[in-house]
Amino acid sequence: MNKEDIKIILDAGHGGADPGTSGNGIVEKDLALQITLYMYERLKELGIPVKITRTTDETISPAERVNRVLNAWGNDPNVILISNHLNASGNKGADGAEVIYALRNTDELPNMILQELQKEGQNIRSSYQRRLPSNPSKDYYFMQRNTDPIQSLTIEYGFLDSNKDDPIQLKNNYRRYVDAVVRALMEYLNIKEPITEDIYIVKKGDTLYKIANQFGVSVEELKSMNNLTSNTLQIGQQLIVKDNPYETYVVQKGDSLWKIANNYGIKVEDLKNTNNLENNLLKIGQELLIPKVGNKYIVQKGDSLWKIAFENDTTVDEIKRKNNLVGNLLTIGQELFL
Ligand SMILES: [Zn+2]
Repeated sequence: MNKEDIKIILDAGHGGADPGTSGNGIVEKDLALQITLYMYERLKELGIPVKITRTTDETISPAERVNRVLNAWGNDPNVILISNHLNASGNKGADGAEVIYALRNTDELPNMILQELQKEGQNIRSSYQRRLPSNPSKDYYFMQRNTDPIQSLTIEYGFLDSNKDDPIQLKNNYRRYVDAVVRALMEYLNIKEPITEDIYIVKKGDTLYKIANQFGVSVEELKSMNNLTSNTLQIGQQLIVKDNPYETYVVQKGDSLWKIANNYGIKVEDLKNTNNLENNLLKIGQELLIPKVGNKYIVQKGDSLWKIAFENDTTVDEIKRKNNLVGNLLTIGQELFL
């Protein structure tokens, strides 16, 4: 396994005609989906490659589920499958989280996940492998058995039918439990801080103050994001910036300001202002900052923030931030910036 090449496929257990287990007013398929969508969003924010088996209340046969897992990133040992489930035992006193992992895998990541869940106040049971009685060389559960060579984990976050604290904790704390799993993954993958794809390349005349101002962060934030110990910048240096509102374009032969502005759907004036251009002359190889134009989306019947975020390759938090939304409620016809 090469930790830099890790990709994640998330699975929300059950769905549609298969509700899974239930108890204390909570249905497994629904909470598993909430858990999985939130986890998807968190991993995406961190820049970790992630896909998902279902985003709606959909019936998926075991064979189809395995297909989606294997087709997400290909049959690759660098893929980690995290299947999210809730437990029930019929024994009302059952309590705590457990992780099932494939016979081909180790308990390293499963145990890290349980430790982090414990830090969030959830009781933990154990990580374990389970063998098929008729053929003990095989995994008992199809999500482990049929997903070779993927690293396959099933997390049971707790017992829905328990009379202990599990059901309330699961309902109230599932985001914290997801954050715990994400922390375990970051630790496992040696990811120290959030990865961002937003990079700014230092230009002549730039200062930390100027760049910080441009991206709406403080000089201190900019320095800490980039582990800078001094205020000295070098031309060509790459800086991580939050939410870069610009992309960079390199001027090609035959380009004009008008042509570039037109290609990006912006005004020549905006292009000139953004780049402090005093005239219309361009040089081949010159780098221009292009303001990103926000996409507008009109809310349709049946939309949710989750669905829109998923379909537009963004996150719920990002949409809420861009549109100053406080709650999760949308109205049909509402315009959103994406
Ligand atoms: Zn289940």
